[in-house]
Amino acid sequence: MGKNLNIVHDWLKGNNLRPTSINFVTDKSELEKKKNDMLIGQKYSDDDGKEWEKTTYGWTSVPKVLSAIKESNPHCTVCQKEIDFHNKQDSRAYSHTKMCFDCMIDMDTTRKLQGSFKNFEQIYVFKKQRDFVKSTLQDLNEALLALEKQSAIEFINEFGDREKWSGLSPEKIKQDVMRDITEGEQVLLDINDQLSKLDAK
Ligand SMILES: [Zn+2]
Repeated sequence: MGKNLNIVHDWLKGNNLRPTSINFVTDKSELEKKKNDMLIGQKYSDDDGKEWEKTTYGWTSVPKVLSAIKESNPHCTVCQKEIDFHNKQDSRAYSHTKMCFDCMIDMDTTRKLQGSFKNFEQIYVFKKQRDFVKSTLQDLNEALLALEKQSAIEFINEFGDREKWSGLSPEKIKQDVMRDITEGEQVLLDINDQLSKLDAK
């Protein structure tokens, strides 16, 4: 998924971006108002239990587990990328497959791994991929619906100010979303194809 889609994705999930957050113009949340009124040094926890601290330059996340285990952060077994536990997709993918999200979703990678994977492991990975793709498609379709109603997008910049998102119009994001939906549906077909070859339901 493109960066813009990740932003939309995060927005749909109600997540904060690092260190900014994003809201559509018509939807100024109570949380944003509360956050605006908070003092430097104050903290709050978001829905995912992630802690955020207000600083003079905006909101920064307070790593809880990360700081303790940073030295021994695991790496993707395929591309060797260090797994950033702030990245929800990567950390979820890693916990299931010991791969980063990109590698897990990459069919070429999976095909390469087939030689070393036992049948049930292949089925497991493909099913995980299928779950990811399905939930991503669902998010994208929700994003598309939400975008239909938007004329402009607003975000909180790193200084805590409200700003119009001028870089991209909802129209442009909509095109990206539609392209990703098409891609996602193709990937889903591929995965189902692989699964049926492995004789799995
Ligand atoms: Zn990787």
